[in-house]
Amino acid sequence: MNSERLSNRLKAVASYVKEGAVVADIGSDHAYLPCFLVHTKKVKTAIAGEVAKGPYESAVKNVRREGFSEAITVRLADGLFAIEEGDAVDTVTIAGMGGPLIATILESGKERLSQVNRIIAQPNIYSRAIREWAVSNKWTIIDEHILKEDGKIYEIIVLEKGQAMYGELELMAGPFLLASKTDVFLEKWEGELAEWNRVLASLKKTAETDAIKKKKEQMSGYIELVGKVLTT
Ligand code: SAM
Repeated sequence: MNSERLSNRLKAVASYVKEGAVVADIGSDHAYLPCFLVHTKKVKTAIAGEVAKGPYESAVKNVRREGFSEAITVRLADGLFAIEEGDAVDTVTIAGMGGPLIATILESGKERLSQVNRIIAQPNIYSRAIREWAVSNKWTIIDEHILKEDGKIYEIIVLEKGQAMYGELELMAGPFLLASKTDVFLEKWEGELAEWNRVLASLKKTAETDAIKKKKEQMSGYIELVGKVLTT
């Protein structure tokens, strides 16, 4: 397998998988991540779960082409229902979807997480949904990462079992990301701030109704919070 083909985003997700883990990659269009993990010998076995037929077939084809059919089981299944008893999956990766969809997948299949001790989530947007899910379900954030690739900014959240409490800013921006404030992190939040200021400015030009007033208050609240993200 040509590991150069794997995006930096998925390589970053792979870097949080422990050596010898048994991984279920949920939403495994093409099964690139499981193939990379097996190819680099980081894991011996993995499950690739996909809910849509086309991507599932691409995953099956890819696994076969790479010669990994013994090591990687591809299943057509909704979310965590790709994990079966006896798989001994200890690590779940879910990448390339919105935060709310990832949180819904975790919530609706959470009984399948009983043997899982690490979840590596890579939301494309609204990562807060995953942090809120983690707090409600006794998972704690043990690391986070932010990166930019092809003009897009991505976050990675690594969860292990444990109860944590996060404040408003940590839920929104991520406790580890907030503490390290990398250039990419600052770029993300400066971009959000500019966007919300733009929305607020255009709302101010609109005739005031109750709905517009509420929206303006909401935008002002976001802007204040993002200001704190950038300055604290
Ligand atoms: N994980 C890959 C990545 O990060 O490049 C693929 C991301 S792709 C944008 C999202 C994939 O998740 C799609 O193939 C979609 O069919 C799949 N998906 C969405 N909802 C799912 C669910 N409930 N269960 C399994 N797969 C799902």
